[in-house]
Amino acid sequence: MSGRNTSPANRVLVLNSGSSSVKYQLLDMADRSRLAVGLVERIGEESSRLVHTPADGERRERRAPMGDHGAALTAVAAELAADGMGLDSPRLAAIGHRVVHGGKRFTAPTVIDEEVLAEIERLVPVAPLHNPANLTGIRTARALNPELPQVAVFDTAFHTTMPEHASRYAIDVETADAHRVRRYGFHGTSHAYVSRETARLLGRDPAETNVIVLHLGNGASASAVRGGECADTSMGLTPLEGLVMGTRSGDIDPAVVFHLSRVAGMSTDEVDELLNKRSGLVGLCGDNDMREIVRRRDEGDARAKLAFDIYVHRLRKYIGAYTAVLGRVDAVAFTAGVGENSAPVRQAAIEGLEGLGLGLDTELNSERCDRARLVSPQYARVAVAVVPTDEELEIAAQTYALVRS
Ligand code: ADP
Repeated sequence: MSGRNTSPANRVLVLNSGSSSVKYQLLDMADRSRLAVGLVERIGEESSRLVHTPADGERRERRAPMGDHGAALTAVAAELAADGMGLDSPRLAAIGHRVVHGGKRFTAPTVIDEEVLAEIERLVPVAPLHNPANLTGIRTARALNPELPQVAVFDTAFHTTMPEHASRYAIDVETADAHRVRRYGFHGTSHAYVSRETARLLGRDPAETNVIVLHLGNGASASAVRGGECADTSMGLTPLEGLVMGTRSGDIDPAVVFHLSRVAGMSTDEVDELLNKRSGLVGLCGDNDMREIVRRRDEGDARAKLAFDIYVHRLRKYIGAYTAVLGRVDAVAFTAGVGENSAPVRQAAIEGLEGLGLGLDTELNSERCDRARLVSPQYARVAVAVVPTDEELEIAAQTYALVRS
């Protein structure tokens, strides 16, 4: 047992608590490896399910009702303990929690205490779907091991460097400030990680590299990163603004809301649901999986083609806009489910942008590969990169750096 006590506490458990799910990963920061990954789904239902995969063992699945996050995290802790990696392990340095909204105040990862919890709670009105679930996850994890340091890593933090002319909406200043209406941006952990990895791929110092990051998952956002700091991003007060997404409209004239309310008699909640859940790719063609949309388009399906074209058109507008914001662009980086995997989307987004210094090597672009790589020709002035995102690793690294300091 003496060996156990002298082993360094260099493991971090990353928790991503959603309203009915918890995703987790246990990482060893000595070599940044995964010791276990898992997921609890359908919390609060009879059909709750836990899937746990240790790095050196078989995938295990448990089906049992888990009424709340407390029950779910207790089950996760039991699975980790069964592999000798429980929450009371002296090797565990901290838990890193993904927290969606950190408002203006949280500009960096933060060790959680009662005051921090109260501030995250105060932000619930601007993140009603996400912050309550994140808070429940934090409170439950603290109850399971009150001694363990817990760190909040905010989706919004990376974007707090945006200058006021990018973060403020052009509306009455007093009304905006009274109700915290401003552009916050999201997916910050991914934008931070991918912009840094892109600089590394180019063999350059991130502090001297300008990157346009296109995070294209089910939710999608673009950011303009100047020398490692966010200069602008496409999501705003909420994750609804910006690019066309799986089920969200992205940019839209706000008068559409008043129009639908007056003409179609829709309530605020109904329009909210329309724009967040029944719009984007799903609203346009009934599918939100880009593989399926490209397959249908290639078979001549007109709605799938239109959905693809609208998606790409918006993307190209943001590439152009962020080229203007940055002045000099060193790379455009594609990441997340669509960005990493869809060669047709990358091709359509970059095609014809030679005027902006962009080009694509179609052969490199169509190769399947899960490592970070360049897909632009040698001569292109602006590199095009495909960089797999790793939000869990970034959360673990930020958490570990904070608790060690
Ligand atoms: P999120 O984390 O936002 O849920 P992901 O980053 O996992 O989303 O991206 C999910 C999306 O990625 C899917 O909806 C699908 O459109 C797209 N996707 C995944 N794999 C592929 C693929 N091989 N080709 C094209 N698109 C893909």
